[in-house]
Amino acid sequence: MKKIKLFYNPFSGNKSFKFDLDICIGIFQEAGYEVHPFRTMQPGDIETHVAQMDADYDIVVASGGDGTVNIVLNALMHRGLHIPLGIIPSGTANDFATYLGLKTGNTEDACRVIAQTQPRPIDIGVVNRETYFINVCAGGLLTNVSQTVDKDVKNALGNLSYYLKGMEQIPNFHKIPFRITSTEGVWEEDLYLYMIMNSAGTGGFTRLSPEASVSDGKFEFIGVRAKSILEIPTVFLKMLTGEHIRDEKSILYLRDHSFQIECLDPNFRIMESTVDGEMGPKMPFTVEVLPQAISVFGKFEKEKSVSRETPLNKVLMRAKNERNESKAQKENKAE
Ligand SMILES: [Mg+2]
Repeated sequence: MKKIKLFYNPFSGNKSFKFDLDICIGIFQEAGYEVHPFRTMQPGDIETHVAQMDADYDIVVASGGDGTVNIVLNALMHRGLHIPLGIIPSGTANDFATYLGLKTGNTEDACRVIAQTQPRPIDIGVVNRETYFINVCAGGLLTNVSQTVDKDVKNALGNLSYYLKGMEQIPNFHKIPFRITSTEGVWEEDLYLYMIMNSAGTGGFTRLSPEASVSDGKFEFIGVRAKSILEIPTVFLKMLTGEHIRDEKSILYLRDHSFQIECLDPNFRIMESTVDGEMGPKMPFTVEVLPQAISVFGKFEKEKSVSRETPLNKVLMRAKNERNESKAQKENKAE
């Protein structure tokens, strides 16, 4: 019989997943799977369990937020298990699941996607060849915004709450000198913060790297240049809509499969990175893409529609529309 291992964090988000457990098991069982749940109760228990569990699971499911997904991913990779991964978004921050087209709290939908669709291979990242991430590795200022936003405020204001939280921190902004080395060059720049993105969004910003593909073997590096603090709100607003990546004055935008990140100010207080929102290795560190290293379940038609929106395609589409319009006008005149 096919088997699913289900890891769930009962404390994630609004703590309601436990009430959905019956629906979840029902859907998987109906699809012919035997479900083996594991309730995480303390830090480290998922790692310990994965290290000892049977290696022949057909699917591993993580129910929780980005943090739970990251823990399950790391446990699987450290044991060398490349079992297809399903995600049930039930945490406070569910950036990667959002990218996969899954709605937070909609357990039934996420379970059906897992039970009824084919998983697709995606890239993942590894920091210092040791710490894995599925969505983002970030550093500099503001790296903890998605964890510090109050849950009630987030429910009421959605993405705007991240923006407001970011704004609140602006008085503390100061420039930080970084050296970024990719396979194409070396950049020494004063930045406020940077994000190395696999998917399109993090911290509630769903269009941070609007051209990202999770299976092209590359990550997007997005560094916010340390310009006048007065310009920051405008840059953040652009980040909500995805316009920022064309704003070279404010954003350092790179695409590559390997980045080395160094902080050139030894007195900078936040040397740690965050990986999928969790505390990660300290700078200096190296981030590499592991191309199509794991398969995940998701609504991938969404990604296609995003990646089609490249600047070139936008121009081509506009030109095509204009041609059609002028053709229609001529035809109208002819009548
Ligand atoms: Mg990519």
